[in-house]
Amino acid sequence: MSRVWNFSAGPAALPLPVLERAQRELLDWNGSGASVMEQSHRGKRFIAMAAQVEADLRELMNIPSDYAVLFEQGGATQHFAQIPMNLAGEGDTADYIVTGHWSEKAASEAATYVGVNIAANSKSENYLRMPPREWWKLNPGAAYVHIATNETIHGVEFQDAPDVGSVPLVADMSSDILSCPIDVSRFGLIYAGAQKNIGPSGLVLIIIRRDLLERPVRPMARIFRYAEHAANDSMLNTPNTWGWYLAGLTFEWLKERGGLSAMAEENRKKSSALYAAIDNSGGFYSNPIDTPVRSRMNVPFTLHDSALDAAFLQESEAAGLMALKGHKAIGGMRASLYNAVPYEAVEALIAFMRDFSQRHG
Ligand code: PMP
Repeated sequence: MSRVWNFSAGPAALPLPVLERAQRELLDWNGSGASVMEQSHRGKRFIAMAAQVEADLRELMNIPSDYAVLFEQGGATQHFAQIPMNLAGEGDTADYIVTGHWSEKAASEAATYVGVNIAANSKSENYLRMPPREWWKLNPGAAYVHIATNETIHGVEFQDAPDVGSVPLVADMSSDILSCPIDVSRFGLIYAGAQKNIGPSGLVLIIIRRDLLERPVRPMARIFRYAEHAANDSMLNTPNTWGWYLAGLTFEWLKERGGLSAMAEENRKKSSALYAAIDNSGGFYSNPIDTPVRSRMNVPFTLHDSALDAAFLQESEAAGLMALKGHKAIGGMRASLYNAVPYEAVEALIAFMRDFSQRHG
């Protein structure tokens, strides 16, 4: 077996012990004589596991009891639409802070269901910095304020939950959930697609303050209503049982590793080492993001001469470094450093980058 160092932006690396455990348990899960994928979500084994997974997440993130946790489907993209369906009524508006590709997409998908007010937007600066909080044009009557805490493509990350007063803050945390401790009570709703820091694609976590489930909103089918999902323990219909199970293995792994404070330290160490290597490369590599808001999870960088890109990708792959090609929207390279990417992987990448720059400099 040869595993590579995987820098994929998502679906992304999963912790090796999680994969190994899933492999061991695949044919006979929990003494049932069948895999977890082959049994009813209404069975006692699955129900008990599901409850434990939620309890572990609550412990890891210190989620207050007045928040519901939902295990949903549809990708974060579906929830770009479902969030305004559930939080905004006829004639309401919501504030969107646009700091990159994903928050821009969230705003455009929401526009079918809510009046979208772009309260701040750093597009004209190519998303290289965050719009300063004092420039945001928030509407105190907004149904909610939406941010993406980390922009997976552009590599900018909020360092803290912004203060938006009493309007509920809604955050797409798809690419930085579980990477450090956060104060959940600062948010009205947190959502995250699983395929970066949680598990396989096809699962979306939603953490929602319970009073927001009661908002009088438009008529819609039960399947779209978060309140219905909460009332049915995310089993209104058949959930993504495999995703739920793997998320649980990841949460156990995180607890064994020392929880989110330990991950924060590790993630800071990994990203600082890579940014330092880029900044100290004498201009061979560069990352143009405003230093205080550089993402700890996704590090986009360019080579001083894009004619070297193909060689960089080919040679890095040959060196066992997978998926460094940047997103087509901005080109160049990108290294994603989620929880499951160990410090050793970053060391291997830095060593390769140094060697490459010496040979091609
Ligand atoms: N938000 C962010 C921050 C993302 O990185 C992504 C995908 N990588 C999405 C939303 C969309 O997720 P999905 O493809 O699961 O709908």
